[in-house]
Amino acid sequence: MAKVLVTGGAGYIGSHVTDMLVERGYDVVVIDNLYTGHAEAVHPKATFVKGDLLDKPVVDKLFADHKFDGILHFASHTLVGESWEKPWLYLRDNHVAASHVLEAAANTGVKKFILSSTANLFDAPERIPITAEERIVPGSPYGESKFLVERQLYWMERVYGMASVCLRYFNASGAHPNGHIGEDHTPEFHLIPIILQVALGQREKLTIFGEDYPTADGTCIRDYIHVIDLAEAHILAYEALADGKSRKYNLGNGKGYSIRQVLDTAKQITGVDIKATVGPRRPGDPATLIADSTRIQQELGWHPEFGSLHQIIETAWNWHKSHPQGYASKK
Ligand code: UDP
Repeated sequence: MAKVLVTGGAGYIGSHVTDMLVERGYDVVVIDNLYTGHAEAVHPKATFVKGDLLDKPVVDKLFADHKFDGILHFASHTLVGESWEKPWLYLRDNHVAASHVLEAAANTGVKKFILSSTANLFDAPERIPITAEERIVPGSPYGESKFLVERQLYWMERVYGMASVCLRYFNASGAHPNGHIGEDHTPEFHLIPIILQVALGQREKLTIFGEDYPTADGTCIRDYIHVIDLAEAHILAYEALADGKSRKYNLGNGKGYSIRQVLDTAKQITGVDIKATVGPRRPGDPATLIADSTRIQQELGWHPEFGSLHQIIETAWNWHKSHPQGYASKK
């Protein structure tokens, strides 16, 4: 049974990947500082270590205590907006945390690394849908911080022979279909959970950030990808690393939905007439972001199983309805 380290395994995407790794027979160690993650989200069969990757002795001890076959690195600050207000959380902390992990990994002979990366690398796409060959133009200090780690991985391969896969996600969404784990951010900034909080009566309304974009209904278009399809891509990517080859993939459904389409689908699923008003644009939002995931489909045989917006919102709704206060609901 391969032993893998999942950093940030108590967070939204990391916890879904941990869950799938454990169910597929991996021996998983999770490290998370619980800054935004939830201990309850970690699969009970995973070994959980509460610790901060900025604390180098903590990282070194982790690698002394366990011999890892590979690493899936999720732990990071992940908010585009916050990264403009607090750039050093991103340009320094995300970078230093990854450096500590990479140094310890290299020193202990780890040869496999999966990076949770982002569509925020593509702020000025020349073509939509966006392929993995698109020119990299980070859209914020957050995007830049992920690019810095991608660059470190380039050198990890050349210096130490560590192979990696960078997975650039578009809009991760949805929840585990069995309803035991899901999205729980405080405060919440993402569209689908905000809409569902309005449906639950926890917020008065959705504010649509701009209706004057060059799209059919004037609202921004995004490519929403189910977190279980993302998790599957991580496992395929990890297994592909057996051949020692590094790769970069864009991950989305290849279909774009406007904010109004998301809102209308959520109204159908919840049966609630979710209130929405239009506000000003949010700075830094591109009009349309859609992924071209052809490369991972062709090379690794990845196919989205929960590709419809309906499935994405339905699984998210089941989670939010049964956990109206997120993980705190169970206490
Ligand atoms: N959005 C919105 N109102 C909100 C939150 C988000 O109109 O309260 C919009 C946002 O401007 C973007 C889309 O919904 O066009 C998806 O935003 P989210 O923050 O979920 O993901 P992002 O695309 O920023 O990664």
